[in-house]
Amino acid sequence: MTECTYCGSDVYAHDPLFLESAADGDREQAGQFCNYACLSAHIDEENLTEDAACAFDPTD
Ligand SMILES: [Zn+2]
Repeated sequence: MTECTYCGSDVYAHDPLFLESAADGDREQAGQFCNYACLSAHIDEENLTEDAACAFDPTD
């Protein structure tokens, strides 16, 4: 079974999403999730969007 990066459930029992990151042009498996809820919760928990905005200025 393939465990959800966030909750540890079998992702194939749900609606799985797979995350990849790219370093030096190489794609690397960065996790898998049951659905968007687990992905979103994982992002919140790890503060993955902290200081990561790409040229987004809310004061504009
Ligand atoms: Zn999950």
